[in-house]
Amino acid sequence: MLRHLAEAFGEIYFLLFNIDFMTIKFLGANREVTGSCYLLENKQKSKILIDCGFFQGGDKSQARNRQKFNFKVQEIDAVCITHAHLDHIGRLPKLVKDGYHKMIYAIAPTIDLSRLVLEDTVKIAQEEFRHTGEHKIFDEYDVVRVMGLFSAAEYNRLFEPAPGFKVRFRNAGHILGSAFLEIEADNKKYIFSGDLGNPDMPLLLSASAPAPADVLVLESTYGSVVHERGVSRTVELQEAIEQTIKNRGVLMIPAFALERTQEILLAINGLVENKKIPHVPVFLDSPMAISATEIYKRYAKTHFSRKSLQDLLVDRDLFDFEGFKYCDTVEQSKQINHTPSPKVIIAGSGMMEGGRILHHAKRYLSDPRSTLLFVGYQVAGTLGRQLFEKARRVFIHGERIAVHSRIKSIGGLSAHADSIDLVKFAEKTKTSLRKIYLTHGELERARGLRKTLLKSVKAEIDIPKMGEMGE
Ligand SMILES: [Zn+2]
Repeated sequence: MLRHLAEAFGEIYFLLFNIDFMTIKFLGANREVTGSCYLLENKQKSKILIDCGFFQGGDKSQARNRQKFNFKVQEIDAVCITHAHLDHIGRLPKLVKDGYHKMIYAIAPTIDLSRLVLEDTVKIAQEEFRHTGEHKIFDEYDVVRVMGLFSAAEYNRLFEPAPGFKVRFRNAGHILGSAFLEIEADNKKYIFSGDLGNPDMPLLLSASAPAPADVLVLESTYGSVVHERGVSRTVELQEAIEQTIKNRGVLMIPAFALERTQEILLAINGLVENKKIPHVPVFLDSPMAISATEIYKRYAKTHFSRKSLQDLLVDRDLFDFEGFKYCDTVEQSKQINHTPSPKVIIAGSGMMEGGRILHHAKRYLSDPRSTLLFVGYQVAGTLGRQLFEKARRVFIHGERIAVHSRIKSIGGLSAHADSIDLVKFAEKTKTSLRKIYLTHGELERARGLRKTLLKSVKAEIDIPKMGEMGE
């Protein structure tokens, strides 16, 4: 109810005062981390959508993903996608199912990774349908139609996806193909940060510097958090592996298939090649992460950092090392159980909402010799978040599991910029900056970031609610 009132008020305000510049409607990832979606309308009445992501975490997220879009789908002139994470692309098939038939712009690897992520989502939905009888939001045909609408954008090239909108994709350094968007409309400059990368991560090129802007829409996932830097992050991973070997336990790493997995493989590869850890079997138990790793390799030349490219001259595969094994089939996955401990298992899903990590967690969470290591953000309402917050008992596949294993996390392995990086990004845009909207972060984190930003940036800072309008 409140949401509808806020929306109605916002629209009446803009109608009454006949606002003569671009408007932004916030349609997801507001005071929360998932569901990214923005509707932009300029004074020529062109409309573009930035991202169209899934809500994730909690019982209500699927119901929210099913909800009718609160705009006229047929009126959208173009869609721009910042990157291939599900919370930025998950509702694209629904958009197409509801009648969208124009272009979807993204950087080339984002298109390849989107196919992987959306096809996987359909598979998971089919599984759920078998268990719960709940109807799918979309099916594989909708995904095929989405893929047919994608058009590859290039970094740093200004183009006009719809009349009166000039858009430039810039490298966000978050995952392969990720972008922040510089947009010119109605004589103003806007930046939509998408998700910004952790500049300390070695695999990919770091984010480009943003140009000055009038309005900045900035993510705040780690708005009030500072990650461990540089060496300490790898040392912590090394310690977790050494401890596992010493205890003859299992190190379980729930990893997002895109980026987290490749960064972890790169880090373990470094530890093995430099003989910093004893021999230990390492399993990548995720068909999606295996396919994503192949896509990463394909784009190495154009997207990897200079350091990674130099390393490739002496090590032909940065994601493969002695003791490492891909587990693609269910049979290969089951074989992991028969390998004696110690062992390291990297498996999806990253927030433990499904996937093969659940089978391993069921088996080893109650083992005090084992460790569950988090390397990415855990959204509220997920099993990952419960465990991250040290729940002593959890339910997996309806079974009650007592937690006796150690629970650890390495924030520095995150794919997200931290508070310091976000402030630096905002400062680069500040010469003409008038307004900042903080999105894609829980309220407490966004408030923390606002407090820090106010010390160095002279701009009005809002934390919009879902459905609110901005300009
Ligand atoms: Zn992301």
